[in-house]
Amino acid sequence: CGIVGYIGPKEAVPVLFEGLSRLEYRGYDSAGVAFLEEGGLKVLKKEGKLSALGEKLNGCSFCARVGIGHTRWATHGRPSDENAHPHVDCGGRLAVVHNGIIENYLSLKEWLQAEGHVFRSQTDTEVLPHLIEHYYNGDLVGAVLKAVSRLEGSFAIAVISSREPDRIVAVRQDSPLVVGLGEGENFLASDIPALLKHTRRVYILDDGEVAVLEPDRVRVMDRSGREVGKEARLVNWKA
Ligand code: GLU
Repeated sequence: CGIVGYIGPKEAVPVLFEGLSRLEYRGYDSAGVAFLEEGGLKVLKKEGKLSALGEKLNGCSFCARVGIGHTRWATHGRPSDENAHPHVDCGGRLAVVHNGIIENYLSLKEWLQAEGHVFRSQTDTEVLPHLIEHYYNGDLVGAVLKAVSRLEGSFAIAVISSREPDRIVAVRQDSPLVVGLGEGENFLASDIPALLKHTRRVYILDDGEVAVLEPDRVRVMDRSGREVGKEARLVNWKA
């Protein structure tokens, strides 16, 4: 199971797919990507090997400059196309990938369903896009912070939204997440090897930290939204 993200001038989808292939060793049963194009948010996901997702992507032309990707190790809900990540909100405007387990998802799901949210999967993860949608009030970072404050369990997440196409918001709590710092582009991954093709300057996120990736800068904050003075590390081992 793993997470990747990209924001910058390159074609995002091939960068995401290549990053996912470097996370294959972690084990998975399905994979998917979400990205933002002119027409809005697009999601492509598939049960099975990464090559099954690759076939789906093959022959498609993309022009996305921001996206997130995921390999899933099912914990809640069997491996299937619907249960594969990314998961989206009802409006199809925001997408979330998640590694870990949301322990209190059932009570959150019941509450969100009573609020009118329609679920499409059996995963614990799907509460997240609906929760963020519930709290969204013109500020994606604020909505993500409110949503994660409702969660119990372990999670590394990444979020994109067509309403704020110039950023990826990521949070780490008991599941690994690393930011790769580029020139005019930035990367996200579950571990360092997935980043080394692109950069050796990284922020290794600590538990409770939130990263906001934009093409030209990365802000790291705590879960109350206060900026953290994060030091970049230089990775000097061989890929
Ligand atoms: N608990 C989530 C699911 O079953 C995420 C699993 C993972 O870490 O890949 O979909």
